[in-house]
Amino acid sequence: MAGISPFSLTKQPPVILVADDDKTTRVLLREAMEQDGYRVVEVCDGKQCLDAFETVKPDIVLLDAVMPVMDGFTCCKQLLQIARNNLISALATLDTDSALGNTMISKLWGRTPILMVTSLDDRDSVDRAFEAGATDYVTKPIHWAILRQRLRRLLQQAQVYKQLEAANQALQHLANVDGLTGLANRRRFDDYLNTQWINLAQEEAPLSLILCDIDFFKFYNDKYGHPGGDLCLQKVGTVLSRKAQKHQDLVARYGGEEFAVIMPYTHAIGAIHVAGAIQAGVRELEIPHDGSSVSPHVTLSMGVATVIPTWESSPSDLIVGADKALYQAKAKGRNRIVWR
Ligand SMILES: [Mg+2]
Repeated sequence: MAGISPFSLTKQPPVILVADDDKTTRVLLREAMEQDGYRVVEVCDGKQCLDAFETVKPDIVLLDAVMPVMDGFTCCKQLLQIARNNLISALATLDTDSALGNTMISKLWGRTPILMVTSLDDRDSVDRAFEAGATDYVTKPIHWAILRQRLRRLLQQAQVYKQLEAANQALQHLANVDGLTGLANRRRFDDYLNTQWINLAQEEAPLSLILCDIDFFKFYNDKYGHPGGDLCLQKVGTVLSRKAQKHQDLVARYGGEEFAVIMPYTHAIGAIHVAGAIQAGVRELEIPHDGSSVSPHVTLSMGVATVIPTWESSPSDLIVGADKALYQAKAKGRNRIVWR
């Protein structure tokens, strides 16, 4: 950990929010901290500290225990309460199953370290500080060398946390995204379909699924080679993303040349409309396809199915429905949309 600088992730120097009612202490703290390259924002009491916290977004808070208006213990507790409330409202409104939800929640857990600075060094006050949620504690008169080391260590810890968080996000992304197209992968498709099934069964609301296949894709690969095939998949994937734009729609690469769109709260007519827009979008790309016997350009066969989920049925019923429709679209000559 000694090798990790508190300055390493962002080029900006860390911001320290100092709350102390004593002007001399604030001036001394500012001078010492600025000498070490930190940026300092000063406030005079706990109330001001709470107000400044959201706008300043400090990397660390230095909190005096005894202040007028609102003391350090109360302020510390309230800072924690703010973090908790944010977390609770995030849990209530977010789809906690989604990768985005997990990311948001773990971000909200990452709380700003709070260092209490106080002349109260009796055991009771120390206990109170930690109970209020302080990360660490130094006493007045300030021993500058100790304060420097504590600050540095707390910022390093926060830095390590941020780096772990970034790594965690990257892993989550890799686990859920198709590397070639950037769309959701099959794993994410399954997770999302299950979650939406449960949500919509409770609400008795419709769920639609579009499955689509690039027509004669094997011949496309034979003719244009796999790099050409990859490019074609990427272009078609982009059209799907652009056309399925409702907030909760999920576009996934379902298999090799097969794509899927999960559409919560969508009746058949809405899903067929989107399928039509996707079909038109792919047609407009005019990707030459000499291996196709239905068109000189790349086309899609599409199957659409809609259900109102119930506890007696399962997501696989919807997949089977869309798959049968897709099969019929192919059997009827491809380059068309079939719904059931
Ligand atoms: Mg004081």
